Amino acid sequence: MNKTPARVCVIGTGYVGTTTAICFAHVGHQVIGLEKDLDKITKLKAGILPFVEPGAEPMLKDCLQAGNLRFTDNPSEAISSSEIIFICVGTPLSATGEADVEALRSVVTSIAPHTTTGYKTIVTKSTVPVGSGDWITMLIEDSLPTQEKSTSTFGVVSNPEFLREGVAIHDFLFPERIVLGSSSPISITQVTKLYDPILQQSFPGGQEEIKPRLIQTTLESAEMIKYAANAFLATKISFINEIANICERIGGDIAQVAEGIGMDERIGQQFLNAGIGWGGSCFGKDIMALIRTAEEYGYSPQLLEATVNINQFQRTQIIRKLQDELKILKGKRIGLMGLSFKPNTDDLRDAPALTLIDRLQNTGARVSVFDPVVTDLGKRNAHVVFAQNVIDLATGADALVLVTEWNDFSDLDWDKIGDLMRTRLLIDGRNAFHPETVQAAGFRYVGVGRP
Ligand code: NAD
Repeated sequence: MNKTPARVCVIGTGYVGTTTAICFAHVGHQVIGLEKDLDKITKLKAGILPFVEPGAEPMLKDCLQAGNLRFTDNPSEAISSSEIIFICVGTPLSATGEADVEALRSVVTSIAPHTTTGYKTIVTKSTVPVGSGDWITMLIEDSLPTQEKSTSTFGVVSNPEFLREGVAIHDFLFPERIVLGSSSPISITQVTKLYDPILQQSFPGGQEEIKPRLIQTTLESAEMIKYAANAFLATKISFINEIANICERIGGDIAQVAEGIGMDERIGQQFLNAGIGWGGSCFGKDIMALIRTAEEYGYSPQLLEATVNINQFQRTQIIRKLQDELKILKGKRIGLMGLSFKPNTDDLRDAPALTLIDRLQNTGARVSVFDPVVTDLGKRNAHVVFAQNVIDLATGADALVLVTEWNDFSDLDWDKIGDLMRTRLLIDGRNAFHPETVQAAGFRYVGVGRP
């Protein structure tokens, strides 16, 4: 167990903050999570995860019981008692396409007075625009009265997070790299020490053969690494989707093409799955924010714009395929399999399913949905019918569309499903099914970039 526990505050207990808080507590630190959403706080205090993340809830309960993880909605209580403060609040897309940093500004202002009572290390784990580290320093300096400025001591570190929802705990505890950017030697030393149990894999359940790399950079480079990583991954998906679209026209099979190119180590197999395109809380907003930043500095990032455009196009292709097969969609019943932007999460942010629902409803189609964990769309999409399971979804449907490749859909009885449908049509938006299996049940199968 960790011999020198640090006192850590995690501000914002969403997907990233909760994972951060649980994992730092798990490796032996004293952690307090600060959250303004009272419903989330009540749940977290009771050991209930306010979202879906496999494996996280038992660890949350263990850490609460061990006494090294607490939650509060009181900023003073959380910040004053901590030496390292992680900012994990959301940085969503603003109406004008930049990152909305209002939550960040508000949190930094609440940290400022506490920098006069002892050294604070402020770590941005949220994805923040390049230059935010210096902006945070300025905000703190500006918000302190003149007589207190000289007693304020703090350092800022950028520590971008690369976890994937659905495997967040694994990614946090067994990362490929930890990036720390700062100009403050004291803060860098503190945060490096904090990560020591993960770097050395010395915590219970640590894997000796894994040696996460520590990468130390300037603040700006660390902030840019996160944007560049997301932009690259999204571009890789848009690239394979573009090749898939060409395959559709010339008769190639994108699965074979992806395998063939992915064997080249310079390319790699991952993120070469053609389909409906990327979504989620990060890719879209981060690429848009990067495009806006580039434009502010007089550069037009054409590749990034193409990445976004191809992704938008890809979503609409599902509608085109339905129209090709069914002709008029008005009055047709379409069943969407999956809602969340990817499996093993309940996250609906920028989920392709939401675009599909809107577009299909505009055509006059009746949309039914089934997702293993998302059972409610709130006020939006009031006309969407929620099915209880795939059988229910298929009953009377003119087409099924696979939107999210949940494991729950991997072993379906296509004969039974086909018997219940009005038309045996499957649009496989993730290329997740074997066409032969579905075709053997009399289905018309339409994938992405497949003959
Ligand atoms: P989220 O919306 O799930 O969580 C943010 C939390 O911050 C919310 O619970 C919100 O109530 C809370 N919050 C906002 N203002 C607050 C305040 N003043 N005081 C206390 N709490 C406050 O967001 P998320 O998905 O966890 O993402 C957080 C950041 O991490 C974003 O910048 C995102 O881009 C980045 N990120 C996300 C992922 C991911 O997979 N979700 C991965 C890597 C990085």
